Amino acid sequence: MDLKNLILNELAKIVDPDLKKDIVSLGFVKDMLIDGRSVSFILELTTKNCPIKDKFKKDAEDLLLAIDGIDEVHVSLSAGSSHQVSSKYGGIRGLSGVKKIIAVSSCKGGVGKSTVAALLAKEISSRGFKVGIVDLDIFGPSLPTLFRKHERVSLSENREFIPHDVDGIKLMSFGFLVGDAPAVVRGPIATNYTKQLLTQTFWGELDYLIIDAPPGTGDIQLTMTQTVPLDGALVVTTSQILSLNDVIRGIKMFEKVNVPILGIIENMAYQLCCSCSAKNETFGQSNIEKIEDLCGVNVLAQWPLEKEWTKSLDLAIHKGLISSSVDSLMISLEKYKKRDSLIPRVSIENNAVILKWEGGEKDWKVTHRDLRFSCKCAHCVDELTGQNKIVLSDISEDIFPKKIDILGNYALAIQWNDGHSSGIYPYKRIQEIL
Ligand SMILES: [Zn+2]
Ligand SMILES: [Zn+2]
Repeated sequence: MDLKNLILNELAKIVDPDLKKDIVSLGFVKDMLIDGRSVSFILELTTKNCPIKDKFKKDAEDLLLAIDGIDEVHVSLSAGSSHQVSSKYGGIRGLSGVKKIIAVSSCKGGVGKSTVAALLAKEISSRGFKVGIVDLDIFGPSLPTLFRKHERVSLSENREFIPHDVDGIKLMSFGFLVGDAPAVVRGPIATNYTKQLLTQTFWGELDYLIIDAPPGTGDIQLTMTQTVPLDGALVVTTSQILSLNDVIRGIKMFEKVNVPILGIIENMAYQLCCSCSAKNETFGQSNIEKIEDLCGVNVLAQWPLEKEWTKSLDLAIHKGLISSSVDSLMISLEKYKKRDSLIPRVSIENNAVILKWEGGEKDWKVTHRDLRFSCKCAHCVDELTGQNKIVLSDISEDIFPKKIDILGNYALAIQWNDGHSSGIYPYKRIQEIL
């Protein structure tokens, strides 16, 4: 077991007496850093004046100092909303108070993804966290039905959408803009709407924003990953339509843009017999384990086929299952936390762009010309042959980036002063130039 897992296991011995769960499963352990023999993390409690916070801190220090290889433990206590507003979501004002963004996605429709997203959100909210859900399904928004909220949202003075608030959960959906009827729009417009919904909703302070992503791996999904830097993605699937290839394609899409896959929830995995509660496999033998083997992605939970899920989110059925799914999700989030270290700080110095990663060993410095020349867009490279269509001498000595945008976790988009703006420049490729 690696040190981080060992530490998380030790911390999981600390149980919150009110919530009757351990502090790791509850999602209270944040931003763990291990540096040699020293470990630091934030203990984020959901109530400001938690009476036993000092005991938690002391217990954590005692448990961790007892680990072989740990000499120093730094626990910072923080209570939910006392955090400074972070600027990690770049220029997106409406997201500036949001701490974590998780996408709940599926390869195909009809797997109950929206219901799963809503139930997880309710459970996270019940732990005292501030939660929002944005339903990005432009062709069939389900949030309005699930939360029985159909009114249109209002606009703020800055012309931002103000999400609905139902039982303390903030909700935003295309359904709140256009009504429940599926929108009839073509691809590029749908992509624009998606971007608008992500960037023009004012969320205020949120601990978690859950994105109910539209099914599939197309342009809209790509836009989502490029518009907001996701902390992770949860994949919902069923064995009925579980085509391994589809699920793998979904996982690859996120991996390509450096979004950690937090795990898979297999929905409708079995039916519970109503008299003896034996599990009957609904759609034959599940092949979900194959995905674990092939992709190394954890199956967080298997949920039963349940007609009643959607009747009312308030029904307390399968509470324990939902709760343990959230536990696993929280543990994954902390385990795979790497987003902050994935987004470089970008600066310009004379004739070069400099990328600096937090904790990185060195700065990556690439001249404007080399960077411009590395473009692999269809204007710059023949898509069939892979041959460069431009030569270095085509590029002016005075080439200069007029605007640099950070695309999600993985690339830069650059508008050059020669008018070229169609290329994207993945960090990996930039590092290879050097
Ligand atoms: Zn039975
Ligand atoms: Zn190009």
